[in-house]
Amino acid sequence: MRTIRQTLGDYGERYVADHFSCYVCNAKNSYELLPVNSTSADLKCVACRALAQVKTIRRSAARGLPPKVIGSAWNPQKLLIEKGCFVCLYFVVTDMSDQPAVYICRPEYQSAEMFLPRKPLSDKAKTPGWIGYMIVIGNALEQPALLTRDEIMVLRQE
Ligand SMILES: [Zn+2]
Repeated sequence: MRTIRQTLGDYGERYVADHFSCYVCNAKNSYELLPVNSTSADLKCVACRALAQVKTIRRSAARGLPPKVIGSAWNPQKLLIEKGCFVCLYFVVTDMSDQPAVYICRPEYQSAEMFLPRKPLSDKAKTPGWIGYMIVIGNALEQPALLTRDEIMVLRQE
């Protein structure tokens, strides 16, 4: 059974794959969803193999991005930061009653200071000692850009 949080995450990943072209090669409908347990990436472009992570935030799209977003497991993220490998981030903001607002933070605009480890989970947690991280949006080198959905751009061109 998937939790509400996982269902929201699935929705955000599907939404980005369905409505946006690859941020590197611009191919349309080229994002495939990676298996649920993949660490550090949710989407992969089948054309150029670019990876992306999707964070879905339950909040009215009209309110924009929050200052901080909950990330996932810290250890794989820490290894990536140490290697200087940043994975493209999409932020999907929706309260599920509105059309989501989608923001992108490209790897070149990310910094190590964006990713802050949280306190390890307590002994009472299901996975004691597990460490997550927060994404501090304000520490990005450039603020995430609001994207326009592909089909809307097509409509406007007509
Ligand atoms: Zn691509």
